[in-house]
Amino acid sequence: MTPQEITPFYTEAFRTLDQGRHETPDITVEFYPYIGINHTIRIRNDRILVRVAELCREMPANEQKALAYILVSKLLRKSVPPSARRVYSHYIKTHPVQEAARENKRARGRKVLSGAKGEYFDLDGVFEKVNRIYFGNRIERPELSWSARRTFRILGHHDPAHKAIIISRTLDAPDVPKYVVEYVMFHEMLHVALPTEHVNGRRLNHTPKFRQEERKFLYYDEAESWIADNARKLKRRAGGK
Ligand SMILES: [Zn+2]
Repeated sequence: MTPQEITPFYTEAFRTLDQGRHETPDITVEFYPYIGINHTIRIRNDRILVRVAELCREMPANEQKALAYILVSKLLRKSVPPSARRVYSHYIKTHPVQEAARENKRARGRKVLSGAKGEYFDLDGVFEKVNRIYFGNRIERPELSWSARRTFRILGHHDPAHKAIIISRTLDAPDVPKYVVEYVMFHEMLHVALPTEHVNGRRLNHTPKFRQEERKFLYYDEAESWIADNARKLKRRAGGK
């Protein structure tokens, strides 16, 4: 189906689920080459932007409509109508889209082998796990890479211009607990989820809200203490001495 054909389903879903509380915003629907069966919906400047996984382009009208109800329910924080969930998941389960998603992942894995796959930790896997547990899979996958050099001062870095998350190679070591790598990834992903605020011309990256969200990491205390306790060792490693 084309985005033009699908858009009215979103308008209908919005009107139905919102029950006339708000005027229906402008809605843009597009297919997006997500690797997996991911779809995103967000509202920005009174416009709704929907991205449906390219893998679901061939999905028929009834299922597209069900997906529209599912995504709009999430946007409006309403419970998903059970019939919509049933129709959509039946399609996903019975059509080869899952197989296609797996094939995409395999192909992608081969391509980025050098960047994300470390000697001890695979950043793709770390990203996926953190995204699933803390972000409901809502963070769009950026380029993921270990830093070319070992750095200590910066354990992680989010580069919004290049849509990339870089993690310091000092952490790709057998004595680094996995939760520390996950914690650094979580921190960088929070930068994606909570974009920089500008106050009086100053860029605020670590707002009180950011710090509060950061504490939701399950091993926050452990990770912070491990980094503090091992700072000297990491620094040494970074210096190559
Ligand atoms: Zn930061």
